[in-house]
Amino acid sequence: MYMIKSIARTVNQLGPNQAHGPHQTALGILSRVAGHEAAVSANPHEPRPESDGGCIEAFARLVAEAQACRACPRMEGRVRLLGPANGPLRPRLCFVAEAPGRLGGDRTNIPLCGDQSGRNFERLLAAAQLDRASVFVANAVLCNPRDAAGRNAPPSSTEIRHCSRFLAATLDLLQPPYVVALGAVALRALARIELHGATLAADVGAVIPWCGRSLIPLYHPGPRAQLHRPYARQAEDFRKLGALVRVDDGAH
Ligand code: SF4
Repeated sequence: MYMIKSIARTVNQLGPNQAHGPHQTALGILSRVAGHEAAVSANPHEPRPESDGGCIEAFARLVAEAQACRACPRMEGRVRLLGPANGPLRPRLCFVAEAPGRLGGDRTNIPLCGDQSGRNFERLLAAAQLDRASVFVANAVLCNPRDAAGRNAPPSSTEIRHCSRFLAATLDLLQPPYVVALGAVALRALARIELHGATLAADVGAVIPWCGRSLIPLYHPGPRAQLHRPYARQAEDFRKLGALVRVDDGAH
């Protein structure tokens, strides 16, 4: 976690214009990704340390492409939250959340970190006995959508459609055996890549074959989702998720 925060600080120090602009070159990103990957690979908890140079370079190119993206007008000036702080490049598990929060990822440059959703997510990961440094956290959209009053807002269907190419490319690069959709928006975004037929209400916690991997729908860790799935039940969902991943790890 400390390492992830350090990397995010580095990105923060670039400032928003530099982080979005031409200074964020594939080469610059590559050096940070490579450094990050080396550090993660040295972690004994890292389950799949076999990232190759091709994957690192391809990720750096994808990050540079995302930083330059201007497809959604209302995302102007927002962080494009894709980079080394999202997680390792060969994770067993990739979470897909909704979008960076105004006080979360858009401020900290770390997905699900710094706001109430992030704090809940940390607690849920702890309940699952999953190490944050071993999982990748993606989003249905890479930028923080806000309403006219400057509050967090859900991404529109158009924004999800625009950004699905980054989500698809990220999953294609990472090849995680498990993809965990955190909430209905993440499920909708994943259905754009390949139909899965799952709904949150009917399939929470189910393991669904999808795109040659296992898709697991869970509720978003944000406070609003707790109206539908109280924290204690979410913690139980995460405990089962952790047990599932560990059983599967033992079989490898
Ligand atoms: S949300 Fe995605 S598609 Fe839209 S501007 Fe941000 S990076 Fe581009």
